[in-house]
Formats: sequence, structure tokens, C-alpha cells
Amino acid sequence: AKSAGKNNFQFYTKAMNAKAMERMELENALHRAVRQTQFELHYQPILDSRSGAMVGVEALVRWQHPERGLVLPDAFINIAEESGTIKVLGAWVLRRACQQLVTWERHHQRVGRLAVNISARQFVEGHILQTLRDVVDRTGVDPTHLELELTESALMQDHRYSVEVLEAIKSLGVRVAIDDFGSGYSSLNYLKKFPIDAIKIDQAFVKGLPSQEDKRIIQAIIALAHSLGLKVVAEGVETSLQLECVRALGCEEVQGFLLGKPVPAQQFAAQAVL
Ligand code: C2E
Ligand code: CA
Ligand code: CA
Ligand code: CA
Repeated sequence: AKSAGKNNFQFYTKAMNAKAMERMELENALHRAVRQTQFELHYQPILDSRSGAMVGVEALVRWQHPERGLVLPDAFINIAEESGTIKVLGAWVLRRACQQLVTWERHHQRVGRLAVNISARQFVEGHILQTLRDVVDRTGVDPTHLELELTESALMQDHRYSVEVLEAIKSLGVRVAIDDFGSGYSSLNYLKKFPIDAIKIDQAFVKGLPSQEDKRIIQAIIALAHSLGLKVVAEGVETSLQLECVRALGCEEVQGFLLGKPVPAQQFAAQAVL
């Protein structure tokens, strides 16, 4: 019995080691990838729910892995966040996306505002203000065409810091949206404390449409947002029924596979002309 126990233990640590190894390899690979810029951005349109006009575009990062091909952010953003690599990667994303917007605008391609995701760690420790000012200086992007998407978890860590930084961001003319709204344990109180412009309803609620429960939750979120003067974006819209629903509920803007999938800049520009 004793030796069996020992074997179990060995098996357990071996499995743990394998997992830890895999993770370390991924961390190292990510680190290398940042140095070699193995990333690219895809762009997804954001539309006015009534007119259908494009009002913006969200930049979404992909890892062009030399062996594994295109890797989606869910497979690496968390690790980049935990290892701190996100700070460098996030700054690259912001700069690259702004360069792209400037290029589009130079070619008179109207894409509306550019939305960029900012991770919690990037917001709290990544010198986000300095990065932002730097990127604006270096790319010449119009900051009023820029929107940062932040999660509740980023803002909830240190309220005073958040208010201060958000106010500085706003004073540059940059818009701020709360991403995945309703997915965390939101203290609704912060909505009036933080100077934000818009919320993006978490996809999970949109996915559930047209169920009565999800309808009511979205309705309540919209009522709350509107009473505080915030715009509402519904993302993850995949069916025309869902589109009809969120439009009827009063969502100003929509985003989702039904309206356009994330695609590389080249392809995005080609579609936008149509
Ligand atoms: P997110 O910011 O909530 O972005 C929306 C995600 O939903 C994207 O996944 C998008 O491709 C996907 N999506 C859009 N429309 C639909 C739809 O109709 N149906 C479904 N099922 N999915 C839809 P993606 O690109 O894989 O990104 C996943 C998450 O990774 C993002 O969620 C965001 O949290 C994070 N992320 C992506 N790019 C960046 C980045 O540059 N920086 C940071 N910090 N995070 C990023
Ligand atoms: Ca987002
Ligand atoms: Ca989201
Ligand atoms: Ca998300």
C-alpha cells in the first residue's frame, strides 16, 4: 500500500510538472513572440443599430505562431496577463491599431472610431497614460477617434486610481467603454463614479436572446446605462432575431458575426468600401 501511495504521488507530480512545463514553454514562446512581433490585429465592425452605418471598429489581437498557425487570444491573453508580457504586447496593440487607423483615414476610408482592448494589468501597472500620449504623438492619431475598452475588474482594483486615470484619458479626448458588462460582480455604484462613455453588454446575455430572462436583464442594463447618460453596445449578435431584439430594446450599437467577423486590415478595408 505504501509503494502504491508513493507511485500515486509520483504520478501526480509528474502530471503537475508536465502542466507547469507546458505553461512555462508557452510563457517563453509568448515572450519570444513579443520580441519578434508574431502578432497581428484583426478588425471587427461596430454598427449603428438603426441605420446600419459603421460607427467603429474593434481591434482584436491574434498570435501568428510559427508552428501552430493563428492562435486566438483566449489561448494566450491570460498567460500574457499573469506573466506581465501583456504590458509590452498591449502597448504594441495600441500603437499598431492607431497606425492602421491613420492609414485608413489617409486613404479616406471612414471606419469611425477605433476601439482597443486594455487588460487590467496594463491599466493598473502598464503606464497606460504615458503609452497613450506616446502613441498619439508617434502615430498622429486623432485621440477623439479612439476608444479604450476596459473591464470591470481593471477598474475595481483601486477606485481612486481608476477615477484619476480615466479623467486624464478623457481629457485627451479618448472615449472609454466598459467591456463584458454584467459578467463580473459589478458594483453598480462605480458607474456614476467613473467617467465612462459606453458599456458593452456581455455576449452571454445576447446569446440567450430571445429568452425572456435575457431580454429583461438587457432591458434593465440599458435603462440603467441610459439613465446615467451612457451608450450601449450589444456584441455577439449572431442572428437577425437577436439583432431585432437588441434594437427594439434600445441598444445604440451592435457588433457580431451577423454583421461582420473580425478580419485582417486588408480584408476589412475591402469590405468597408462596399
Ligand atoms: P472581447 O473584447 O469581448 O471581444 C469580443 C470577442 O468575441 C472576440 O473574440 C470576437 O471575435 C468575438 N465575437 C465577436 N462577435 C461574435 C459573435 O457574434 N459570436 C461569437 N461567438 N463571438 C463573437 P476574440 O478575438 O477571440 O477575443 C477574445 C477576447 O480576448 C476579447 O474579448 C478580449 O477580452 C481579449 N482580447 C482580444 N484582443 C485583445 C487585445 O488586443 N488586448 C487585450 N488586453 N485583450 C484582447
Ligand atoms: Ca472588447
Ligand atoms: Ca466583450
Ligand atoms: Ca471578453
